[in-house]
Amino acid sequence: MSAVRSFKQELVGVFGFPVAENPTQAMIEPAFAALGLDWRYLTVEVRPEQLADAVRGARAMNWRGFNCTIPHKIAVIPHLDQLSQVAEAIGAVNCVVARDGRLIGDNTDGKGFLQSLRSLCAIPGLNVTILGAGGAARAVAVELACAGAAKLTVVNRTGPRGQELARDVQARTGVPTTFEKWEGEYPVPADVDVLVNATSIGLYPDLDGRPQVDFGHVAPSLIVCDVIPNPPHTKFLREAELRGLKTLDGLGMLVHQGVIGIALWTGLAADPELMRTALRDALGA
Ligand code: NDP
Repeated sequence: MSAVRSFKQELVGVFGFPVAENPTQAMIEPAFAALGLDWRYLTVEVRPEQLADAVRGARAMNWRGFNCTIPHKIAVIPHLDQLSQVAEAIGAVNCVVARDGRLIGDNTDGKGFLQSLRSLCAIPGLNVTILGAGGAARAVAVELACAGAAKLTVVNRTGPRGQELARDVQARTGVPTTFEKWEGEYPVPADVDVLVNATSIGLYPDLDGRPQVDFGHVAPSLIVCDVIPNPPHTKFLREAELRGLKTLDGLGMLVHQGVIGIALWTGLAADPELMRTALRDALGA
């Protein structure tokens, strides 16, 4: 008598546009396999005008959830049934979970960053400067404030966007958050503990791009972080390393938001080291 195995596979994935350079499938599917799950993570190109249909399709096919990347993180919200508190505070969704037929939008980007940063320091009491005021900066700022950072500074090229982020984070969390307009080289103050590049400067193919900052007065203990996952070793981080500063790359954030997503979809704890290795291989890094 031969055993009959089940060929039913559970589906999750990522909706983005374009998706050619999205590497997340390469780290999520090996993590599913290592957990003994017969699940697939599909990379799906969804044009902005077809997002509503794509979400309806995910519902119809009983997907267990999906990630959203650029340009869908805000646009997806009206198509969901509920938001987590954090997604509400950030105003963007990168991870959707299907529960009892309802689609719940969450945001795991900031928590992924925090988890990565915790490998270098404790969060409570930190004075953090964040370069940028887009979705990644917002996710990082909200989570840092909720985790006990003492003071945040948002530095952004476009004034109103940076002002709005600083105002919003302070109003929601009570953590003192100031805005500084970014003109020329931003002089990083000596009392900053952690500096985060949360702009898109340095993202492939902008390999020579580097946020314009002056490291001349920083403390030797400054930790310099980049959210850019591709390439992981950005010009910004290389320059900080040459000055003897500790650095944190964007791969850790990507890996840990993936670990959190897998936990939300499956209830299981994936192995971040396995995922980081798979991601590095996929990026040729
Ligand atoms: P947004 O488009 O929402 O924001 C981009 C930010 O970068 C804005 O603040 C913008 O400033 C700033 N910026 C862009 N170009 C310049 C420039 N030449 N000079 C100064 N400022 C600039 O993007 P996101 O926040 O969604 O994403 C930012 C980066 O974060 C992306 O590269 C993405 O890959 C990365 N990311 C990484 C994740 C990870 O897991 N590692 C997760 C999520 C995102 P302005 O407001 O003036 O336009």
